[in-house]
Amino acid sequence: MEERKRIVFNQQENDEDRVYSLSLRPASIDEFVGQKDVVSNLKVALQAAQQRKETLEHILFSGPPGLGKTSLANIVAHQMGARITITSGPAIERAGDLIGILTNLEQGDILFIDEVHRLSKTVEEFLYPAMENFKVDFVVDKGPYAKTINFSLKPFTLIGATTRSGLLASPLRDRFGLFYHLEFYEPVELKEIVSRSAKKLNVILNEEAALEIAKRARGTPRIANRLFRRVRDYVQVKAGNNNISIDQVKEAMSTLGIDEYGLDELDRRLLKVLHQQYKGGPVGVETLAATLNEEVDTIIDVVEPFLLKIGFLRRTSRGREISEEAIKVIK
Ligand code: ADP
Repeated sequence: MEERKRIVFNQQENDEDRVYSLSLRPASIDEFVGQKDVVSNLKVALQAAQQRKETLEHILFSGPPGLGKTSLANIVAHQMGARITITSGPAIERAGDLIGILTNLEQGDILFIDEVHRLSKTVEEFLYPAMENFKVDFVVDKGPYAKTINFSLKPFTLIGATTRSGLLASPLRDRFGLFYHLEFYEPVELKEIVSRSAKKLNVILNEEAALEIAKRARGTPRIANRLFRRVRDYVQVKAGNNNISIDQVKEAMSTLGIDEYGLDELDRRLLKVLHQQYKGGPVGVETLAATLNEEVDTIIDVVEPFLLKIGFLRRTSRGREISEEAIKVIK
């Protein structure tokens, strides 16, 4: 059960992903599969900034976990020939931490803040002048001894990533010049991603086996790569080789509890609870999370977006409702 949960529901990067992300992450913009509109607009923005020899405007990437926001930030740095510093909203606890990071940036450097919607209010307020005028004001001491120190920063580019752009305070949102929303990937795109991963890891994966993995990956490259690695393990242990067939993909998926839609235990439990206990809804997401004994954020960030996308769930003003199609599938 833990193993099953980890594959689909832990959509944040785990240790194993980190080990593989160095080899599997697309290194350049041409290796980045899909998201055509985002990529073509981004290319124009990068080229324009390079032609004018200007620092790139601040960029916000939004979309569900595992769709390529961090990869794109690294690609932007690579294309611009810039250094990148990577941190995240929850990791910057105090304004002092942020000032330390900002004052270390050189002209044209990129600061990537993952989960930028989780910055604390105080830290966020320090970021406003830094983003706008490349300045920060830091108050030292308290009461009568308090004094303000002004730091001038070198022009840098902030790249923020968020799974929930709706939670971003509008003064922060307004300071980004470029916005890109990433959408779930189509199975053919995910097929290309896992096929490339197979090549990089010297595994033989034919077209139909790759497509079978892609179809179950919830539109998400991180999950596609994870499922591929699990299938590779399965085939290595069961067949003692590195040659993956479609039947082996199906067998491995069934041992992992992942059905042909890519749904796993928690998706099915959510749909069943909604159908049986709440008569199909509408029911509030807090109630649903409490019944399932899961965090509300997990339901909103990780479980729901894909169920909404494939039309198994509807979001109404009175809560979540199950669709007829989903009812057929869970029966
Ligand atoms: P996010 O920051 O949105 O959570 P990441 O950029 O960390 O997502 O992507 C997760 C993994 O998925 C990466 O390590 C990479 O291997 C793969 N990946 C994501 N997007 C793509 C893509 N468009 N093409 C190829 N691989 C991708």
